[in-house]
Amino acid sequence: MAGRKKRAGNPSPGPSGGPGAPSPTLLVRGGWILSMAPGGFQGHGDILVREGRIQEIGPDLPRPPGASLLDASGAAVLPGLVQAHLHLCQTLFRGLAEEMELLPWLQTRILPLEAAHDEKSIAASARLALTELLLSGTTAVQTMETVHHTQVVLEVLEEAGVTAVTGGCLIDQGEGTPPSMILPAGRALEAQLSLAREWNGKRSGRVEAALCPRFALSCSEGLLRECAAASREKGLRLHTHAAENKEEIRKVREITGLSDIAFLDGAGILGPATSLAHCVHVSPEDRARLRDRGVHVVTCPSANLKLASGIAPAAEYLDQGINLALGADGAPCNNRLDPWRETRLLSLLQKVLAGPAALPPGKALETATLGGARALGREKEIGALEKGKRADMVVVDLEAPWLGPGGSPETRLVFAAGPAEVRHLVLGGKTVVRDGKFLLWDPAEAAARAREELKKLLSRAKLPS
Ligand SMILES: [Zn+2]
Repeated sequence: MAGRKKRAGNPSPGPSGGPGAPSPTLLVRGGWILSMAPGGFQGHGDILVREGRIQEIGPDLPRPPGASLLDASGAAVLPGLVQAHLHLCQTLFRGLAEEMELLPWLQTRILPLEAAHDEKSIAASARLALTELLLSGTTAVQTMETVHHTQVVLEVLEEAGVTAVTGGCLIDQGEGTPPSMILPAGRALEAQLSLAREWNGKRSGRVEAALCPRFALSCSEGLLRECAAASREKGLRLHTHAAENKEEIRKVREITGLSDIAFLDGAGILGPATSLAHCVHVSPEDRARLRDRGVHVVTCPSANLKLASGIAPAAEYLDQGINLALGADGAPCNNRLDPWRETRLLSLLQKVLAGPAALPPGKALETATLGGARALGREKEIGALEKGKRADMVVVDLEAPWLGPGGSPETRLVFAAGPAEVRHLVLGGKTVVRDGKFLLWDPAEAAARAREELKKLLSRAKLPS
């Protein structure tokens, strides 16, 4: 196994494919390839990348003259992981909202903290999140941001080079919500449509604005209907929370007479462009609704445990043919944005619900790659290693002492690997992590900036740390 890991210090371009212009040709050599493509390549081999796309996968590929080289010996090579439910704007609030259930967690801590963001603090929060996400193997994200300053998050996502579906959340009502976050439905929607006009299909084409009604209790039926109509007319993704917590569901029923899922369905929100985060407490009738509408369910195991919400029936969703994706949710309900912990917990928790054979490691990895790509509507571009797809891939050591010596690559990855085993990360052919070292910016500086901005934010919020 190659010598490794120096994460501190200033970033410097690596000898091959460092940041800047993508290396025109890159050979990832000698890894155990898990392509995740149905019927795709699996086994020892190499991957040749040209102009940011996968050109060839197979054993013993010749190194073209001038091609950069990434050593994958003793490691697995898999598509970059996709996290389909995150809040980058909340990363500054890690550790600041402990021991609470969802509604008090939101009303007493998270919403007041979000309301206190300014452009600088939100940029620091997004950069801190992306530092962790990229270092841990995540190359694509679907995120829900706060009401204001969302443009700044899109800029940081574009700079990082990840594939992203994101939007500011839409709120036009709700107990315990700071008044500055509540906008009339028309204004809330127009702010997001304007981002979509500016970003979708523009610049790199990787960063896309979506419509993100926060959750049923934050939105009037009118706002939800307008979101659903705008999504259909303009081809925009929809991303919201649903059926996370029993008290939330009780309140929705008290107000609307319906379950969360039935209320969202009645407003036209459920469809194949929609991702619903959580879906922990869902009746059999509502599960059938999710399946019939072609909704993507994004499960967030750590967040559901930490906020004492429950365990989502993820294996059942898969059995029903519902697309399942994975996300770490926000730093204050996790407290990591680490996809490996989520993948492991996803599999382990389903074993408690459905027996030891439930959600085996290969399925968990599929959820964290292809499942996420489908939830973002980007499965033709990312989520699997196939000829012509974007060269987003992660190389993960398989031979660390705590990973082996036996067991399949899938078992090692899902039950034993973590961010420390991420050796290289390639984004569209550009190496952004090499031998564990982050090449985009200085992680220590991102952390220092986050500390500084948090201090100022807490004084604006008039909340204790
Ligand atoms: Zn969330």
